Amino acid sequence: MGLDRNLQRPVRLTLKRQSASYYIDGILKQDRVILSQAITLIESTRKEDYQLAQEVIEGCLPHTGNSTRIGITGVPGVGKSTFIEAFGKELTSQGNKVAVLAIDPTSQSSRGSILGDKTRMNELATDANAFIRPSASGNTLGGVAQKTQESLLLCEAAGYNYIIIETVGVGQSETEVKNLTDFFLLLMIAGAGDELQGIKRGIMEMADAILINKAEGDILPLAKQAQRAYKNAIHLFPPKDSDWIVPVELCSALNKTGIKEVISIIESYKNKTTINGYFEENRNKQQIHWFTKKLNELILQDFYNESNNQDRIEKLKQAILSKQISPFDAANKAIDR
Ligand code: GDP
Repeated sequence: MGLDRNLQRPVRLTLKRQSASYYIDGILKQDRVILSQAITLIESTRKEDYQLAQEVIEGCLPHTGNSTRIGITGVPGVGKSTFIEAFGKELTSQGNKVAVLAIDPTSQSSRGSILGDKTRMNELATDANAFIRPSASGNTLGGVAQKTQESLLLCEAAGYNYIIIETVGVGQSETEVKNLTDFFLLLMIAGAGDELQGIKRGIMEMADAILINKAEGDILPLAKQAQRAYKNAIHLFPPKDSDWIVPVELCSALNKTGIKEVISIIESYKNKTTINGYFEENRNKQQIHWFTKKLNELILQDFYNESNNQDRIEKLKQAILSKQISPFDAANKAIDR
């Protein structure tokens, strides 16, 4: 739905659909407009769009997998978009193509806070080698993650060799982003305790690098102090399956210092994990994770939608409350065990 500006009433936007090969050819020719249209198709909730979207994805699949997928998180205000702009510009200046996607847990209830406004990344948004896409909306975080994953594949097929997935570090969406990416970067600022930054220990444990932003001017000594503290904290975490030692570095997204170093860190990570096999193993695990997650969701959906099951569950709930059956036995009976 859009808004008819003159009449101030909602109007249905007519979505003209093309053939699957139109989208696939356009994406493979690296046409940004068609890539954008294809992502809109993926994000559509219309049943009739689903099949077409899947055809497009399947047509693109053989051309996917060739990017470095980077997750970036940190609490609002830490400097994510300023960093992504500086980092993205550095990458494109080195001849790379960069796509930025977002997972925004807040977008389910509101219009969303990240990337909703492209002007947050002015320079990158106008860079011919960058593609910025605001967060997909959806009813569930899992749904948003699925659409983001599918969009990521299309971006890879369109030749983007660095894909950045941004999320707000408030604890809901990091696991999803971790499961979509190869490298997970946590942005922090000095002078605020972990609690103040709302970063949970679990998120710190997920990070492949911690970057203390706004490390400049008067704040520099504090930033260095924070760097030491985080380095010490990391020593206490269990070793990573990737065998990677998590670096803690300083940067200033505003002054564009420490940005090139992040690119080198990610390259070292990729080299190390490609050699020790973790890189591919992790991607394989992610594929199976999404498959299992979706399958579980569908099985549950089918089970609860079945009207016989609904009746049976209602009766069992009554039986539990009137103390005729234990909740555990009732669960067994609900699935005929
Ligand atoms: P986000 O909410 O995490 O995306 O944060 P933003 O990128 O929107 O940045 C929040 C504020 O911090 C803005 O006013 C930025 O200009 C500022 N900021 C971002 N990076 C730096 C930095 O490296 N140094 C300083 N001094 N300010 C910064």
